[in-house]
Amino acid sequence: MQRLSVCAHDHAVWSAVMDDNELDSLVDSLTLEDQVLLLSGSDNWHTYAIAGRGIPAMRVSDGPAGARGTSFTGPASVNVPCGTSLAATFDPELVERIGHLLGRETRAKGARVLLAPTVNLHRTPVGGRNFECQSEDPFLSARITVGYVRGLQSEGVSACVKHFVGNDTEFERMTIDSQIDERTLREVYLPPFEAAVREAGARAVMTAYNRINGPWAADSKEMITDILRGEWGFDGIVMSDWFGLHSTVEGVAAGLDLEMPGPPRERGDLLLKAVNDGRIERSLIRTTARRVLRFMDRIGAIADGGPGPELTRDEPADRVLVRTAGSAGMVLLRNEGNVLPLVTNTLGTVAVIGPNAARGRIMGGGSAMVNPVHQVHPLEALSTRLATNGVTVNYEQGCRIDRTLPTPESRWMSNSSIEYWPTNEILTSGAAASLRAPLPRFHLMWPEAPGEGLSRERFATRIRSTLCVDLAGEWTFGLTSVGNARLLLDGVELFNDSSAAPGGSFFGLGKDQVVAGATLEAGRSYDLTVEYTSSGAGLMRGLIIGLRSPEPADLVGRAAKLAATADTAIIVVGTNDDWESEGYDRTTIDLPGRQDELIREVAKVSPRTIVIVNAGSPVAMPWINEVDAVLYVWFPGQEFGDSLVDVLLGEVDPGGRLPVTLPRRFEDTPSFEHHPGRNGVARYLEGRLMGYRWYDTTGRDPLFAFGHGRSYVDIAIQSAEIVGRDEVRVTLRNASDRAGSQVAQIYVHDPVGSGAHDDPSQKLVGFTKVHLPALGTATTTVQLDPRWASHWDVATHSWQVRSGARDLRVGTSSRNIAHTLATEV
Ligand code: BGC
Repeated sequence: MQRLSVCAHDHAVWSAVMDDNELDSLVDSLTLEDQVLLLSGSDNWHTYAIAGRGIPAMRVSDGPAGARGTSFTGPASVNVPCGTSLAATFDPELVERIGHLLGRETRAKGARVLLAPTVNLHRTPVGGRNFECQSEDPFLSARITVGYVRGLQSEGVSACVKHFVGNDTEFERMTIDSQIDERTLREVYLPPFEAAVREAGARAVMTAYNRINGPWAADSKEMITDILRGEWGFDGIVMSDWFGLHSTVEGVAAGLDLEMPGPPRERGDLLLKAVNDGRIERSLIRTTARRVLRFMDRIGAIADGGPGPELTRDEPADRVLVRTAGSAGMVLLRNEGNVLPLVTNTLGTVAVIGPNAARGRIMGGGSAMVNPVHQVHPLEALSTRLATNGVTVNYEQGCRIDRTLPTPESRWMSNSSIEYWPTNEILTSGAAASLRAPLPRFHLMWPEAPGEGLSRERFATRIRSTLCVDLAGEWTFGLTSVGNARLLLDGVELFNDSSAAPGGSFFGLGKDQVVAGATLEAGRSYDLTVEYTSSGAGLMRGLIIGLRSPEPADLVGRAAKLAATADTAIIVVGTNDDWESEGYDRTTIDLPGRQDELIREVAKVSPRTIVIVNAGSPVAMPWINEVDAVLYVWFPGQEFGDSLVDVLLGEVDPGGRLPVTLPRRFEDTPSFEHHPGRNGVARYLEGRLMGYRWYDTTGRDPLFAFGHGRSYVDIAIQSAEIVGRDEVRVTLRNASDRAGSQVAQIYVHDPVGSGAHDDPSQKLVGFTKVHLPALGTATTTVQLDPRWASHWDVATHSWQVRSGARDLRVGTSSRNIAHTLATEV
């Protein structure tokens, strides 16, 4: 076979491609059975190899927060900042460097496809996967996505842009019908996908779980064949989200290439039968199989000869990049009296407080999770780095925020083992287990059969452990399962989860956690037994055992007492994967637990209160005027602690700007009245009034506007002028004696509009991040979205430009406009 070395896209270097004739001969040398085999996964992360035809299996790996590989607990991976953090950098070039890093990580996991980025939008602040998505603004999301995909694909790895389209919240995500009108789809929800495909050359797309205006996204001919392939010229592959294909014939006919995961539920023998019964054209199978083979060849998956071993990389340069990106996304919202950056020689003692201080949240929950190669948390980094400046750091947790119980600490548990039986009855009949092993952890996930002789669908386990705690009192036990579980202490059942409500765990597949208390003596050994039986079909089985120590009295009071003795209090509040995760949405934007009270009590007694918000999406801040400084840090990745201290000490200017509007109250958000939907339907009735567009158009005041973010320096926009059809030249001046950065943002305002109820009063059409030295001046040319003056015309189903006057507003947030440039289109 002749090998051609090509550059299939400007930014995507691919190892080799077959020419058309070679591809045709390869596909025609396959039997119908083999061609059908290529159209579904063989397991969770691989496609089938076709023996004797030189077609190896291809591995895909989850992202976007890292390249996890085939297991949540396998070889460790570099964990990069979450989507909102990357978008908050307003720096597509920096994100492109993160993309490169992820490409190398994907290759290290023996994979050629990273299931990322997630480019759905923040339609509501409570969306469970908002942290993974980037922004409420399609233009910002598109720019960040293009950077991510370019970097990634330059390493010979295909991105798989997801979830196409309308998976903007987690409510009933496997079944909901997202009803979005044509213009809103085109102007708001499709642009990030379109940019990924047309500008960055994304090679793979994953369909959403939901329906889109009726048909399943995986069966939508309009989306897959007409728009994606037809209009946008996409020539890669389209795969289903995991278990998101619900048809044998319709999906193939709509253009969906790959059913994931495997073994097939809708394809395989069912698809063969559909061909043999004449319900689907044989030629369509050939076309689809040819697309899969062409994709594999282009990304080097055929030349690879099969997926390689899964390895861990941990390069110093990658840690530096993740640390830089983490700080670049941190948004300084408030800084009264310039309490930040910290001046260490005026500090004697610092009180570090908060549920996310000792163990911050570096990533959100769900399929985006990776096993990180390294982690540094705020308390550790502050203690180490302030100690070198002679500052004493003391710590109090302040309150707890876990919605579910944490797994038991290893110091309380010994002799832990697990046994498996191949059926659900064995447990009671006393038959010997078919597998016995030491227990690796108390959070167990079984995406595949747990071992030899066991099936994924049906097995039972018994876990045994000796429990010995160091504190007497009322301890709380928890069980969370996909199946049924019961917990016994010294042989007596304490509780079971047989009647727990469904949906609250394991990506929505498992039940809510059930808890029960028991009084334990310190230093005494108890036999802890948990019995679990799996049930039903679905993505995975799982069991989590939780254990929480008695809560020390008055955590808030202890924290306030500590703060009263310190010069400065740094409170790290936020959420964790109990609140922000795939599988469920939050129900409010309030900080969980007693965090609001904690902040207020500390602020009352502390001379200086600095609040760090460690959350992936907006939280309410009713105490905002009672504290001195607020830094919003998102889920900044594995180098969290050091990224944070770099900003707190002023070694780095806080570079982030808000990629989402921060509301005062949940009730004041654009889709509040329409979310989550009812009777299986989510109507996007706010239309194009997404995020700041709604606030601006309806005249509501947000708490902090989209695009807002302070710097330690004073960089103003001095002048701006239109220099070409799609270009604005902006001059910025730094009046301070230290270096810093600013983001020049350009919004278009159409004074006439189209007359539609959801015409936004303005929208972001260009931005550039500019770094300025102390007292420096810089001139930059901001490239505008080529469609800045266009709208989607539903009569002609095309982009149109309405001539007339427009204002280009140049500023540093959607509400802080320095210059307005009037122009005619
Ligand atoms: C998620 C996808 C993910 C897939 C594989 C699904 O539940 O929606 O984003 O890539 O699982 O883990």
